[in-house]
Amino acid sequence: MEITGAAQHEAWLRKALPPVEQLRSDLWSIPVPMFGPLRYVSVYAFALAGGGLGLIDTGWESDEGWTALTHGLREIGAAVEDVRGVLVTHLHFDHLGLANRVREASGAWLAMHPADARLIKSWNVRDAEAAVAEEVEFLVSLGAGRDDAVADVGPSENFERFLRMAVPDRLLEDGDVADLPGWSLRAVHTPGHTPGHLCFAEERTGLFFSGDHVLPRISPNISSSASGSADPLKDYLASLATVRGTDPVEVLPAHEWRFRDLDSRVDELTAHHEHLLDELEAAVRAHPGSTPWELAAHLTC
Ligand SMILES: [Zn+2]
Repeated sequence: MEITGAAQHEAWLRKALPPVEQLRSDLWSIPVPMFGPLRYVSVYAFALAGGGLGLIDTGWESDEGWTALTHGLREIGAAVEDVRGVLVTHLHFDHLGLANRVREASGAWLAMHPADARLIKSWNVRDAEAAVAEEVEFLVSLGAGRDDAVADVGPSENFERFLRMAVPDRLLEDGDVADLPGWSLRAVHTPGHTPGHLCFAEERTGLFFSGDHVLPRISPNISSSASGSADPLKDYLASLATVRGTDPVEVLPAHEWRFRDLDSRVDELTAHHEHLLDELEAAVRAHPGSTPWELAAHLTC
């Protein structure tokens, strides 16, 4: 795997935010800072034929994130009001979080896969207390002690904002080409990290926007929840196979740095999860009758 996002990688080592970068005459990446160890999400901005901008992802909802996004757009000679459409790779807060503010400021449409759109709609009618109770029961059903489960899920005040995220105006199924004039961004359904995760293959340039599906340093978390998929790891491994062999010119992920040689990274991620599965099978054999919570303690990462 060859690192092409040298400035991003160098900033990572310095624990700094990378710069806004111009990647082509009509394409930029704008880092939007976020809570947690991933530090930032890269928002991609596309100049559209006929004027205006398209975005992939929006960033974590916070005043700091909003400032970074709007200042980044200013730095490239644009403004948030210029945004015509937003493609969201998946429903997580660091990707969809600022979408409401972008839509309110610009009137842009918002598009994502129906599987994630369905989840957002169902969450938006939930009461935070009830949602927290449901997640706690889910963890208890996996063998967690009630105190651990309550601590893990956190208080309902923290949960509230995850239940008020932007509902998309448009849906993109696998193979659909997004309505961003001058670009040919084809949606590639890659469930695993979330049920409706989308990558975008740009057919004119050979660029591949991988969202959180393929990251250069870490695996996205493949987890379940009360409302999640029954077998997300199976979905994820199948989605890795889906993108293998597509041979893009460059991979532009939502976190960390840009890189080349998608297949070698796909092979590493596949091997990583196969290894964990082997560990899990060994743990099941060594500790029969254990709950999933107990088995998790026997995994090395
Ligand atoms: Zn993310």
